[in-house]
Amino acid sequence: MIEIKELHKSYQMGKNALHVLKGINFNVKEGEFVSIMGSSGSGKSTLLNIIGILDEADEGSYILDGVPIKNLNETIASQYRNQFLGFVFQSFNLINYKTALDNVALPLYYQGMARKERMERSMHYLEKVGLANWAKHLPNELSGGQKQRVAIARALASNPKVLLADEPTGALDTKTSYEVMDLIQQINDEGKTVLVVTHEPDIADMTKRIVFLKDGQIESDKIVNQVRASQYV
Ligand code: ADP
Ligand code: MG
Repeated sequence: MIEIKELHKSYQMGKNALHVLKGINFNVKEGEFVSIMGSSGSGKSTLLNIIGILDEADEGSYILDGVPIKNLNETIASQYRNQFLGFVFQSFNLINYKTALDNVALPLYYQGMARKERMERSMHYLEKVGLANWAKHLPNELSGGQKQRVAIARALASNPKVLLADEPTGALDTKTSYEVMDLIQQINDEGKTVLVVTHEPDIADMTKRIVFLKDGQIESDKIVNQVRASQYV
């Protein structure tokens, strides 16, 4: 599903360049459940943003579901994002003046889906994350865990091939974090490819494979029954 070869990424800081990704090699097969771990500043979000076509590498190649991702104009990039990718972020990124249902439906509106289908589909995904009764509520009437469930429903509503989550539990307490990870695991169990960025070992341990970033490179890449993430801290 994801094939990455010799990926490099630097940020220009005035006259200096900050070399963040220094030759990343990484493949993910359809249906995998992978966490990307590493300390703060290790380049996890940079890598996820490149995978999510929100940013582009300077060097190396990235192939997503057989499609080379390189020098795309914004129209094609946004088409590929809609077709392939669903995003979940630490801060939920919901629109405060829209109901839970309308938040889920908004990307479908931008994709041109007719209203009836859009609303039915959005309700289906709200049901899936256990929030059917909260459809008409605004984000500020929901708990953190419920907001993240809405964000997950929104990410799934376009039926993407891959779900990308950047610190999805970063703003949640421990119990709620596990509940959200259980939901993400359920989504993976149903066949969706899932990548989760986290710096929390307990969260990484809930995935099936842990890729550990250090100094811009992959220091280790192991399936979870071989390694407990907590050994890194
Ligand atoms: P992580 O998600 O692992 O905490 P990031 O990928 O966000 O790490 O950042 C890696 C490094 O790149 C950090 O040193 C960060 O300050 C820097 N960085 C991230 N985004 C930018 C940017 N847009 N411009 C300049 N530097 C950036
Ligand atoms: Mg980050």
